[in-house]
Amino acid sequence: APLLAASDLVKTYGGTEALRGASLDLRAGETVAVTGASGSGKSTLLHCLAGMVRPDSGTVRYAGERLEEAPERRLSELRRTDFGMVFQFGQLIPELTALDNVALPLMLGGSGRTEARERAGTWMERFGVWGQRELRPGQMSGGQAQRTALARALVTGPAVVFADEPTGALDSLASERVMTVLTQTVRESGTAVLLVTHDALVAAYADREVALRDGVTAPAGVGV
Ligand code: ADP
Ligand code: ADP
Repeated sequence: APLLAASDLVKTYGGTEALRGASLDLRAGETVAVTGASGSGKSTLLHCLAGMVRPDSGTVRYAGERLEEAPERRLSELRRTDFGMVFQFGQLIPELTALDNVALPLMLGGSGRTEARERAGTWMERFGVWGQRELRPGQMSGGQAQRTALARALVTGPAVVFADEPTGALDSLASERVMTVLTQTVRESGTAVLLVTHDALVAAYADREVALRDGVTAPAGVGV
C-alpha cells in the first residue's frame, strides 16, 4: 500500500474550484513531482496531503490513517513528527544562524542544544552548507538558504517531505544543485518526497510525475 494516498479530492474556495478530482499515491522512499500550470491546484493538493487544508470531499490516507477527518491536534503532531516542509522561500528564521535554524526542530522535539547542533551540523554538511553555519539567512545566497531549509526539513527524520516550488526563486544552476543534493539525500535516508514544481527540469529529478490540469490529475503525458 502507498504511504500517502489522496483519492478524488475536491476543494473549492468561494467560487474557485482549486481541485475537481485529484488523486495521487506516494510510496515510501519515492519522489513524485506534481506539475501543472500556475493555478492548476498544485499547492492545494500538497496542502491537502500534508493535512494543512481539509478537502471538501475525497480522502487522504497516511500510513492507513484518514487525515481528512483527523483532529487538528493530530495533524499538527504529524507535521512535527512525520512530515517535513520546504517552501519557495525557505522561511528560515532571520534572527537565527543557519545552524540554529536547522537545530531548532530537534530542540522543539526535546533534544538538548549541544546534541541538536551536532546533528544539525551533520545535515548541513550533507547539503553543502556547513561553511555557512554561522551566517544568518539574509547573508546566504538563495541556493544556500534553500539547502539550509532542506536540512531543517530532514533533520528530524521525517517519512515524507513536502516541497512546494523549492527552487522557484533560484537560477537553473542553483536549482540543479538543490535537486541533486535533495534526491541523493532522500535516496540514502529512504524519505518520500512530494515535490510541487512548474519547472520540467526540476520535475525530471523525480521518480514519477503527476500532472494537474484545472484541478484534475492525470499521469504525465496521458490525456493532455
Ligand atoms: P498552483 O499551486 O498550481 O498555482 P493553487 O493550488 O495555488 O494552484 O490554486 C488553485 C486555484 O485555487 C487558483 O485559482 C487559486 O487562486 C485558488 N486558491 C488557492 N488557494 C486559495 C485560497 N486560500 N483562497 C482563495 N483561492 C485560493
Ligand atoms: P547558489 O546555490 O545560491 O548558487 P552556492 O552555494 O552554489 O550558491 O554557491 C555560492 C558560492 O560558493 C559560489 O561562489 C560557489 O562557487 C561556491 N561553492 C559552492 N559549492 C562549493 C563547493 N562544494 N566547494 C567550493 N565552493 C563552492
